[in-house]
Amino acid sequence: MYNEKLAIIYDEVTARNPGEVEFHQAVNEVLECLGPVLARHPEFAQHKIIRRICEPERQIIFRVPWVDDSHEVQINRGFRVEFNSALGPYKGGLRFHPSVYLGIIKFLGFEQIFKNALTGLPIGGGKGGSDFDPKGKSDGEIMRFCQSFMTELYRHIGEYTDVPAGDIGVGGREIGFMFGQYKRITNRYESGILTGKGLDWGGSLVRTEATGYGSVYFVEEMLKARGDSFDGKTAVVSGSGNVAIYTIEKIHELGGKVVACSDSGGYIYDEKGIDLSSIKLLKEIQRGRVEEYTDTHKHAKFVKGGSIWDVPCEVAMPSATENEVSGKDAKKLVENGCIAVGEGANMPTTPEGVKIFLEAKIAYGPGKAANAGGVATSALEMQQNASRDSWTFEYTDRRLHTIMRNIHKNCFETAEEYGSPGNYVVGSNIYGFLKVAHAMVAMGVI
Ligand code: NDP
Repeated sequence: MYNEKLAIIYDEVTARNPGEVEFHQAVNEVLECLGPVLARHPEFAQHKIIRRICEPERQIIFRVPWVDDSHEVQINRGFRVEFNSALGPYKGGLRFHPSVYLGIIKFLGFEQIFKNALTGLPIGGGKGGSDFDPKGKSDGEIMRFCQSFMTELYRHIGEYTDVPAGDIGVGGREIGFMFGQYKRITNRYESGILTGKGLDWGGSLVRTEATGYGSVYFVEEMLKARGDSFDGKTAVVSGSGNVAIYTIEKIHELGGKVVACSDSGGYIYDEKGIDLSSIKLLKEIQRGRVEEYTDTHKHAKFVKGGSIWDVPCEVAMPSATENEVSGKDAKKLVENGCIAVGEGANMPTTPEGVKIFLEAKIAYGPGKAANAGGVATSALEMQQNASRDSWTFEYTDRRLHTIMRNIHKNCFETAEEYGSPGNYVVGSNIYGFLKVAHAMVAMGVI
């Protein structure tokens, strides 16, 4: 599908951003879909929209010094990439994980531009984080790190400029420490500067559940479009963090059975269905490892190091991290009878894997569309903060559900309109891109 002009732009992007392989992968996936769009909209080439969209508006890299429990000084690197603000203030999470470097933050920020456009809400795209590893750290160490991180970040964020949230390694505890430090430095109680806050101090009901629930709502729509449903389906969900937990919860509510989940140590298989209250206790309260699930569920088995995608299932929900589904994994899933894949994580399937899913014509929901419920509910949190209001769980969940239905509908219809029926990669990339591109043309060369 690549045309010559797009191939030139892609080569420029890789040359300008050497070594940032995840960013190249994310750009390639979008550009591959845009040939037919450029043919219909010559004005985008004239305004150099694609070249501009691939260049972040601002990239901030900073030192994060902190003192550990043994009184040793530690130094990490902090990032915030403010990618595109055509549709609203930059919006996107913060990731704390040792694998973080500029290329990861840029891939996530780039994806976020189109994902946020898909929600239909007024938010631009950005992402940030640090190579800090929260695993095994005490609460005091986490607090000191978060305070140091915010001591630099505070000058770049704001309700109308940039509104970070959580991602891998950043949940309610970390958002709390960062919000506290922002408030202390600025002497202002500005709820709208971060989302994912606690319910007593400006947070929104459903934000915790939103990414997982939203991904399941998206898959439900894909199944519905094929005259099917979750009822009685066997599912596998990778990860056991925020996204995975609420994905499992919603699948069980809709009559499916999740038989496996994982962390970076391996996966657990429970043929009776994962007991979610045990996983919640283990992960949300005790901050333990999934392996420990077998201590209380003797019939379940823990598989160290193997691929969770070897477990036969009808629905697969990759909800851990990028490139976790290889071409080999995708092939295995299809062979085992998988009919739907919904990506809770960002870019969890390698390009080879995506090709296999598309060729097999299974219902494949890319992360950009399927996991947009998290950021959409963050935008609902911003709405509540702006009006100093708080909505009920039922009302917020209904709004989330409607947003996910609309995202599905728009992706589905756009894919048809551009000659690739059933291809949600094409649908999501083109629909998201068009919204941002039109806004950029309207605003002139900035
Ligand atoms: P959490 O930190 O809560 O959980 C991450 C889970 O994935 C953990 O079980 C973790 O295991 C596992 N994991 C992380 N990195 C790896 C790795 N390299 N190899 C194997 N397993 C890994 O993060 P979230 O649930 O918030 O995020 C999961 C994914 O969803 C990410 O891709 C994120 O970008 C995406 N996402 C999150 C949103 C949100 O609202 N939170 C919104 C949209 C997308 P371990 O503990 O062993 O590291």
